[in-house]
Amino acid sequence: MTAQIISGREIAEAIRAELAEEVRELKESHGMVPGLATVLVGEDPASQMYVGMKNKAGAKLGIHSRQISLPAGTTQDELMGVVAGLNAAPEIHGILVQLPLPEHIDEAAIIEAIDPMKDVDGFHPINVGRMSTDSGTFFASCTPAGIIEMLLRSGHDPAGKQVVVVGRSNIVGRPLASLLLRKGRGGNATVTVAHSRTRDLAAVTRSAEILVVAMGRPESITGDMVAPGAVVIDVGTNRVEDPESEKGYRVCGDVLFDEVVQVASAISPVPGGVGPMTITMLLSNTVKAARLALERGGGGDA
Ligand code: NDP
Repeated sequence: MTAQIISGREIAEAIRAELAEEVRELKESHGMVPGLATVLVGEDPASQMYVGMKNKAGAKLGIHSRQISLPAGTTQDELMGVVAGLNAAPEIHGILVQLPLPEHIDEAAIIEAIDPMKDVDGFHPINVGRMSTDSGTFFASCTPAGIIEMLLRSGHDPAGKQVVVVGRSNIVGRPLASLLLRKGRGGNATVTVAHSRTRDLAAVTRSAEILVVAMGRPESITGDMVAPGAVVIDVGTNRVEDPESEKGYRVCGDVLFDEVVQVASAISPVPGGVGPMTITMLLSNTVKAARLALERGGGGDA
């Protein structure tokens, strides 16, 4: 058997087209332009690249992007001031502070300072709490939300299925398990979360009808660890040395693709899988934040 390829790139494109339409409608009917502010502290090249990609993708959809770049020496108080300013700005509906922050900054305090209704990254404890308790309005963190969309839009609704998530980080594994457990759309799964202390990982992964892997360990899930016919989502994004490549490295997932593609019924590739979905869900959260602001009667004058 050779698996169906779940293309995150194609699904992301389809969602972005829908979002562009929604942005156009917001502008035409309500005079509102969704606004996203990204805050970057320091000059880490990877962070600069991510922020640049987010702004560019937003601008393509007609989202108003404001990029704030601050020097590495920015103090906690100064950053708090910037966040407070963005919280108060009516034309800004979503705020993203690029992580990681320099060591002298208390990251948790900054995240908690963001208005939860503008927390489009979904990391504020109010959003995490509402997602975990399946209550109220919240922003789901982008990578897990992207994985759920990928499953739904490729015809693999997790409802009623045995889903195994490998990894329990606060940005992928844990929030994904919360979303899968919800009673609504994309939820109602039976969820097992595995981690580095799991005994006999292979036995656990083989029990999955849907297997999501977010370990940060290159090509660790081999063909014999996957049940025939399972659906596999590979979140891992790893750079491994490759003397044959021009750049000297290649990007791979946590799943040994060439083996697992022979066993699974569907699999997401790396690159071109979960990656493009993450930014798309950030844009989706920004449009949602703008809509919510509109319902509350504000923010229509960007
Ligand atoms: P973390 O390092 O924060 O977490 C890794 C998790 O995997 C931990 O829970 C760890 O267990 C578990 N783990 C590690 N080794 C093993 C093992 N041998 N057996 C079982 N479990 C293991 O990583 P992240 O969640 O931040 O990211 C995971 C991967 O996903 C990375 O490759 C990252 O680059 C990628 N990623 C991709 C994104 C995208 O948009 N495409 C977005 C975010 C992440 P324990 O808790 O016990 O240590």
